[in-house]
Amino acid sequence: MAEYDENNIFAKILRGEIPCDKVYEDEYVLAFNDISPLKPVHILVIPKEAYVSIDDFGANASSEEVSGFFAAISKIAAEKGVDGSGFRAIANTGDDGGQEVPHFHMHILGGARVGKMVS
Ligand code: AMP
Repeated sequence: MAEYDENNIFAKILRGEIPCDKVYEDEYVLAFNDISPLKPVHILVIPKEAYVSIDDFGANASSEEVSGFFAAISKIAAEKGVDGSGFRAIANTGDDGGQEVPHFHMHILGGARVGKMVS
């Protein structure tokens, strides 16, 4: 598993070094609008602690962090009104998964049909 890069852009957002368009925050996560939205709702949810990927998170996060993270996904979906219409939550992982930012994040995509699962 890759080592965590403290200089990745989401680490800088968490440290307050660069701004984000925040939509939700609690003790476990920060969530903000994606800078290049692919759907009317496109939110990134990131854990506050340093995990490279969902792989790292699943292997090393505490059960409180894991449950806090997924509880936040549900809260955000409800707050954004996509819990009824549906949405897609995805975590690109590593090179083959197309992950660009090496701090674990889930995309919440909704507000319109998202399309086929993989293209
Ligand atoms: P991934 O390919 O899963 O690593 O996704 C990274 C996502 O981060 C992309 O959808 C980018 O548009 C988004 N992104 C990159 N920089 C920022 C930023 N400063 N604020 C918000 N979203 C960003």
